[in-house]
Amino acid sequence: MDIDEIRADTPGCAKVAHLNNAGAALPPRPVIEAVAGHFALESTIGAYEAAEQNEAAIGRFYGAVAGLLGAYPDEIAYVENATRAWDMAFYSIPFAEGDRILTTTSEYSSNAIAYQQVAAAKGVKVEVVPDEADGTLSLDALQAELAKGNVRLVSLNHIPTHNGLVNPAAEVGRLCREHGVLYLLDACQSVGHLVVDVNEIGCDMLSATGRKFLRGPRGTGFLYVRRDILRTLVPPFLDLHAADWKAPDGFQMREDAQRFETWERYVAGQIGLGVAADYAADLGMPQIEARVMHLAARLREELAARPGITVLDRCARPSGIVTFTVDGHDPAAIKAAAREHGVNINVTTPLAHGYDPHAHAVAVRASVHYYNTEEELDRLLSVLT
Ligand SMILES: *Cc1c(COP(=O)(O)O)cnc(C)c1O
Repeated sequence: MDIDEIRADTPGCAKVAHLNNAGAALPPRPVIEAVAGHFALESTIGAYEAAEQNEAAIGRFYGAVAGLLGAYPDEIAYVENATRAWDMAFYSIPFAEGDRILTTTSEYSSNAIAYQQVAAAKGVKVEVVPDEADGTLSLDALQAELAKGNVRLVSLNHIPTHNGLVNPAAEVGRLCREHGVLYLLDACQSVGHLVVDVNEIGCDMLSATGRKFLRGPRGTGFLYVRRDILRTLVPPFLDLHAADWKAPDGFQMREDAQRFETWERYVAGQIGLGVAADYAADLGMPQIEARVMHLAARLREELAARPGITVLDRCARPSGIVTFTVDGHDPAAIKAAAREHGVNINVTTPLAHGYDPHAHAVAVRASVHYYNTEEELDRLLSVLT
């Protein structure tokens, strides 16, 4: 990877050491130009007319995202964020009383809230599968729970927001297939960060956002739904794009994943997200993953060597999300001090990951991307000492 060239292609790199990529990454120039260009066109010739003119770029989104994930374009839906993408899949599942949902301790609270809502409404049971000692989902425990039967859904995150763990997504996929159980993967933090291939993982549904490691525009996301199950899922909402009106009182749902979409959307964002997916694929996801892992490992090593700093990531092969505490210093104050030195980091909050017994009250989170440099890591370290 030519890091200098990549940084020159990212205007934000000249302004700030951006270590908040799990929050929202800096977009590269082609994404900025695609989004700004479409908005400018809408402003000059009219938004409907601009959509007609840029029809190919808008349509390109499906192939770009599908290409990144090893999916088919008709398995991809454009949704305004990862939460709604995930919701459109989850609330489509025809749960019945007594069904079991299996999830992990590191689950994102928005998902946990949805489980509890469906549990209360439909008499579904939500069960949190125990962890291994390093915080990842225990595959033995998952297998034991699957063997007990009545599991309607296995639903978990690939990488949580609040620490560096990476769940064994592909091994989970294998177990779900063996037991014929639906598998929903929240890949919000892993797409654009790790190699994510839906066939290797074996998930039936996958949701992600544009603004995080994918470096797309904010207010964009997508849903993947495998062809085999697409037609068995009835979205909780349908509009005149997701379904065709059949006079006098009927409708026919779309056959592809666009049944999970709405007609109205952030069109510039859709173009920009497609460009971001192509950008990541062109650089090479294996190369991106290796660079992120390298920088994160270096940062953890340096942090761990400093007295008074505790690195909280316990997983054997952690992600680019680095979390830690500093004795006697409030994480929010560290974030503010870093900002003054031109370094963007964030803090985690236990409310975002309610099932996790190891969740630290509040911790500092530095999340690296491939465009970061060792000098930028040093800049953060100098703020801490
Ligand atoms: C950020 C995040 C979400 C929510 O994504 P939005 O695009 O903000 O809706 C869901 N799950 C995980 C693990 C996340 O990190």
